[in-house]
Amino acid sequence: MTGEQYVTEQGWLKASLTCCPLHPAGGCGFARHGSYPRKRPWGARIARWYCPLGRRTFSLIPDCLAARWPGTLQGVEVAVMTAETAPSLVAAARVLRPEIEEAGAVRWVRRRKNGVSDGLHRLRGLLPELLADCALT
Ligand SMILES: [Zn+2]
Repeated sequence: MTGEQYVTEQGWLKASLTCCPLHPAGGCGFARHGSYPRKRPWGARIARWYCPLGRRTFSLIPDCLAARWPGTLQGVEVAVMTAETAPSLVAAARVLRPEIEEAGAVRWVRRRKNGVSDGLHRLRGLLPELLADCALT
């Protein structure tokens, strides 16, 4: 499902969490706790549950959206691919974020590039037999 499909089909209404992550056996009063909006993609909401015993909420972010970043995972992928193929981060920033100042655009690109690179390094550490010889792109 793309971010656009998630919004159009109101995917947060179909999200389900069958048991409390803190109390899998139940008995804690775990229940749906509405949803909250995300800025991007516009119109997206995130389904949320609440455990009264644990005094904690749990949110289900769909696979198409990036956790801790606004927007979709596809948007992050496009940013990183552009950064990897552009002659410099500045050049990539000019293409990806022409509406903001260059320094901010470079930070925006660098955060995504470093985040994906860090994730790939961790994956290689977790699956060395599979990824040891792969380029981290
Ligand atoms: Zn619970």
